[in-house]
Amino acid sequence: MIASTLDRYVLAKELLELKARISIIENETALSATFLRKAFYDMHQKSPPSGPLVNSPSFLLRNFVRLKEATLFVFFYRVQKTTDLGLRRSIMAYQRYASYIETLTKAQPMIDYSSAYMIVKWVESGEVKLVRCGHCRSAMLLVSTKGRASVCCVCGEDN
Ligand SMILES: [Zn+2]
Repeated sequence: MIASTLDRYVLAKELLELKARISIIENETALSATFLRKAFYDMHQKSPPSGPLVNSPSFLLRNFVRLKEATLFVFFYRVQKTTDLGLRRSIMAYQRYASYIETLTKAQPMIDYSSAYMIVKWVESGEVKLVRCGHCRSAMLLVSTKGRASVCCVCGEDN
């Protein structure tokens, strides 16, 4: 839990800037959902996203580009030079991932912060692992629901 009131507001502002789901911000800062919804609207001139959060890592496997971008995000999360855990680390990694994608593709990232937040939970619980492809050695995500794939999706296409 975050100690000072000011820290909670600073964190809420960062999460609002990343367009995180109100339920996530409420959970992490203990600020009221009503206040956060209003702050979201003030900042973005639109209502916050609603609907359920992604609840299973299998959503990563349904789209090749999304899987590639998720791999990049997890890579940044893993190499992030910080002793901070969880949330702070996920914010820093997400900012790096998003600016990388925006620079490279001039498009919006495929993974929103709320999905990245869930991906971090799966990484920390071991449901999603960053490993190396047994064939080309490139970084790949191993998703527990996928079984025992040992080659990345590019090499898998060749077989
Ligand atoms: Zn490969």
